[in-house]
Amino acid sequence: MTATIQNLRDKLGELSDIGATVALMGWDQQVNMPKKAAPGRGQQLATMSAIYHRMATAPEFGDMLRKLNDERDKLSADEAKMVEETLWDYERSTKLPEAFVKELTELDANAFAAWQEARKDSDFAAFQPFLERLVVKQREMADMFGFEGSPYNALVENYERGMTAERLTQIFGDLREKQSALIEKIVASPNQPDIAWLEQDWDEQAQWDFGMKVLTEMGYDLDAGRQDKSTHPFTTEFGLKDVRVTTRFDVKDLFSAMSSTMHEGGHALYEQGFLESDARTTLGSSISLGVHESQSRMWENLIGRSRPFWQHYLPVLKEHFPGQLNDVDVDKMYRSINAVKPSLIRVEADECTYNLHIIIRFEIETALLEGRMKVSELPEVWNAKYKEYLGVDVPNDAQGCLQDVHWSGASFGYFPTYALGNLYASQMFEKILQDIPNLWESIAGGNMLPLLDWLRKNVHEVGRRKKAPQLIEGITGKLPESTAYLNYLTTKYGELYGVK
Ligand code: ZN
Repeated sequence: MTATIQNLRDKLGELSDIGATVALMGWDQQVNMPKKAAPGRGQQLATMSAIYHRMATAPEFGDMLRKLNDERDKLSADEAKMVEETLWDYERSTKLPEAFVKELTELDANAFAAWQEARKDSDFAAFQPFLERLVVKQREMADMFGFEGSPYNALVENYERGMTAERLTQIFGDLREKQSALIEKIVASPNQPDIAWLEQDWDEQAQWDFGMKVLTEMGYDLDAGRQDKSTHPFTTEFGLKDVRVTTRFDVKDLFSAMSSTMHEGGHALYEQGFLESDARTTLGSSISLGVHESQSRMWENLIGRSRPFWQHYLPVLKEHFPGQLNDVDVDKMYRSINAVKPSLIRVEADECTYNLHIIIRFEIETALLEGRMKVSELPEVWNAKYKEYLGVDVPNDAQGCLQDVHWSGASFGYFPTYALGNLYASQMFEKILQDIPNLWESIAGGNMLPLLDWLRKNVHEVGRRKKAPQLIEGITGKLPESTAYLNYLTTKYGELYGVK
């Protein structure tokens, strides 16, 4: 076969279609599927995923990519980039021997089951032997991928290319100390928000209607997507013109669904914003999980927890819940939605404390992988760090080191992307406010579209043409770092709690 760009586009189109089919079956599994269909769906997903893997790792596909790569000077810049990125994916997915992948998949399945039991009984010892084997496997995997410096670098590359353990240690080290000190002052402040008014029942339909209104006004295209309910909120796409989100409801919690709708909406706007000309190719996809998370967190936190947003949306919310918010003004809403309370559980953490949960996990997983810590020491180290960084006592392993699914699924190197999302969002937002000086007035007037415009041009349409550090540097003139985020936290929460 002659290696041409059209051959490559055709191949990528096929891969993209099969990937979309797998995603569609996964969406259905979580949104619509009847209970008894689960085993059958499991088989269908395994079959389709195997077909995808076979095509994506076929030797002739690799030959085509290498040949095109050798003739890069004959290609346009975009074509060359498409070849380069696809070849990177190809080499990455062919580096692990089949026997190793099979062994790891089995270990994952057993470790996941053991973790579920161990968490239920709050018994770390029952999970320990599985985690020990997983750490050994992750270390072997790092060796197979190859790395410089920390073995962690080989794994973080799966989620955040161009980021390293050394750089993360530096960024997080500085952040941890200052963020921890800020939280200590906030907890001690006499100036705590009145949140008693939140203890009411909030009608689910009204929550749904309000969320849909916000989602639409963020610029989410409902003719190229839809929102449904699921146990865990998520975003998925089956191509540029079908990007779906889900949310969940808690009648006791006014903020849970609206936060998750704005969060997933931010992810979805990114996926709806790739260039049409990049559709069904490697370039029409996200740079990294950290950049993806910067989009969701910008909408959820920087916008959805801002005063100007509530200047516009509080009257709208009042219409949706007649009589329930009579005593609530913008100031009270702003203070309530930004209440800070150090807690044990990452997924329930507020904006101000969230990154500390991530930093704890990052410090532990690098120590495990670099052989500086034994798995048996995990509960003790975990509990000590929660006390030191967040000032909370961990009563048991279920609410401590067994709370997250990630390690049981061998996802080492994933956690930092959550924190990086916050840092990237703040760095970008400083530039956004320079570029759109009247952004806050626009948002207070109910128009969020100038923000979406900016994100489209500067982030979404870039697709996979840059790595995250390059993207951030290109936008802000600085590599990823924590200053902008710390400035944001200290300014916002300093004012809210009357602390410096
Ligand atoms: Zn997210």
